[in-house]
Amino acid sequence: MARFTLPRDIYYGKGTLEVLKTLKGKKAIIVVGGGSMNRFGFLDKAVDYLKEAGMEVQLFENVEPDPSVETVMRGAEAMRAFEPDWIISMGGGSPIDAAKAMWAFYEYPDTTFEQLITPFNFPELRQKAKFAAIPSTSGTATEVTAFSVITDYQKGIKYPLADFNITPDVAIVDPTLAETMPQKLTAHTGMDALTHAIEAYVSTLHSPFTDPLAIKAIQMVFDYLPASYEGDMNAREQMHYAQCLAGMAFSNALLGIVHSMAHKTGAAFSTGHIPHGCANAIYLPYVIRYNAKAGTARYADIAHAIGLTGTDEELVEKLCDKISDYNKKLGIPATLKEFGINEAEFNEKVAKIAELAVGDACTGSNPRQITPAEMEKLFRCIYNGTRVEF
Ligand code: FE
Repeated sequence: MARFTLPRDIYYGKGTLEVLKTLKGKKAIIVVGGGSMNRFGFLDKAVDYLKEAGMEVQLFENVEPDPSVETVMRGAEAMRAFEPDWIISMGGGSPIDAAKAMWAFYEYPDTTFEQLITPFNFPELRQKAKFAAIPSTSGTATEVTAFSVITDYQKGIKYPLADFNITPDVAIVDPTLAETMPQKLTAHTGMDALTHAIEAYVSTLHSPFTDPLAIKAIQMVFDYLPASYEGDMNAREQMHYAQCLAGMAFSNALLGIVHSMAHKTGAAFSTGHIPHGCANAIYLPYVIRYNAKAGTARYADIAHAIGLTGTDEELVEKLCDKISDYNKKLGIPATLKEFGINEAEFNEKVAKIAELAVGDACTGSNPRQITPAEMEKLFRCIYNGTRVEF
């Protein structure tokens, strides 16, 4: 049996934050990150709207990037003390992801991460609270997805949580929040959204329900990302919707090895973190050439949808070239070497990283299977910028 799940309501448009006024409940807790929502006045607005709805409001602030198990536990504790019937998460992917996990531990204090990481094995949520998500970046789409990633820094592992129970009840996709994104974040999150849509479209779990969302998202990213990057706020608005459409697609069709590779390289090198969307953008054309060896038809569909012409093989090439052009325009490097990863460290670590990437949760739905040896070869192509010919 297949299933397609989205939030019950997606509110979108400039000023939609105001819909918080109409929520029905007694108590709301707002989960936010490091301060930009506060600084730009959105947090005050949200508090005022919720009070107008007749709710008592409490804040849980300072969720860090890549939120920790400890933060989740503290948030769940605050929720158990306050007993909200609405959890309102607001900001980039991190506070929303953290709030999703807090929600599970609020409703089920005795559950454990070990239980929750089995995919689609959550206990039934919504016993105590409903969940609204308000994204301020245009990429992760966590406001509409069934996913959350929490980091256990002591054990050095990430817990990818996946269950339709954590698909929010309400998503508020208000582009005014995304107007505050700095340029680099706009580039990285935009290419993350493109990767979501392309990986969902070619996923082994793609369906007639997810395909149109993925294709529309791809068209919109190609149409609007460069202008959004240059600061055009109408384009920024369209990107905020495009990433949400991509999220609806990949929440239901899952992803592929671009994400597997980005997950396992993000924090792997001593030279510094590779931002998620930047890693995806670098890897995407290489992975398309690898996957296309097992079938070009789905990539040809994508290429047609953005106005490219030619044979299927030519279309794959043109699609990859177009992605590389966008990367260049957006200031994203073409190789891991260019990104600044040290060659000796890369050579020392690549075999282990390749093995971990094959074991990532996103590998299962990739359209072409991959062995650790092939994955290592693929990483070497990406490091040096050599063509994928296998
Ligand atoms: Fe992503």
